Amino acid sequence: MGHKVEEILADLKYYLQYLRDMGIEALPASEGRSDMTFNHSSPLRSKALALDDIRRELGDCKRCKLHRTRRTIVFGEGNERAKLMLIGEGPGFDEDLQGRPFVGKAGQLLTRILHSIHLQREEVYITNIIKCRPPHNRNPEPDEINTCNPFLTKQIHVIQPKIICALGTFSAQTLLKTDTKITALRGRFHDMAGIKIFPTYHPAYLLRNPERKREVWEDMKQISQWMKENDELAQPVGERRR
Ligand code: URA
Repeated sequence: MGHKVEEILADLKYYLQYLRDMGIEALPASEGRSDMTFNHSSPLRSKALALDDIRRELGDCKRCKLHRTRRTIVFGEGNERAKLMLIGEGPGFDEDLQGRPFVGKAGQLLTRILHSIHLQREEVYITNIIKCRPPHNRNPEPDEINTCNPFLTKQIHVIQPKIICALGTFSAQTLLKTDTKITALRGRFHDMAGIKIFPTYHPAYLLRNPERKREVWEDMKQISQWMKENDELAQPVGERRR
């Protein structure tokens, strides 16, 4: 029951934000019974449907040169009501094959990192700065990041996480709009329009530099502590989205 009310309030918040984005700042007051109903035709659509809309808008994207070499667009997946969102760099070989983020070796390490703070992948939302694999896993280029960014922004807007863990240089620098090095950014909270951004090293970097795992472990403990203090543990597992 409590969860249902929370869901309705979250949908209402999303709908009001949507109206504001459309330039509607006020709603007419009316007396008596409202015609608003919470059925499938209601404008109070769920976050899952809103994410579906973004995925549909992305379509068979050919907006940047990466479409020529990618196999699959990797949109993101997880709990659309997650309080913690993890944002990596871009799909690698395995992700490009499977259409899911962080499923290769780095992804397996990420899953273990989440387990270390008692979170399952299904409790968080995982996506990347760019949705298509760059050829030979090269770094994403500025035009690719800029072209993909509106879709990431919309995903964040729908999910409204309380905290984003930025995995690696490209994620942290893109979200924080800075070219400061990851070594200086990681390990502390930053703010992005009311959302906490917590950068840490990328799991692929950890595979090459295992001596840095200790720092990531400390970082994850800070995230976990913050979530506990703010009573912001991930909400019940929702339907998995891709
Ligand atoms: N590295 C990333 O940044 N993202 C993935 O999805 C996989 C590997």
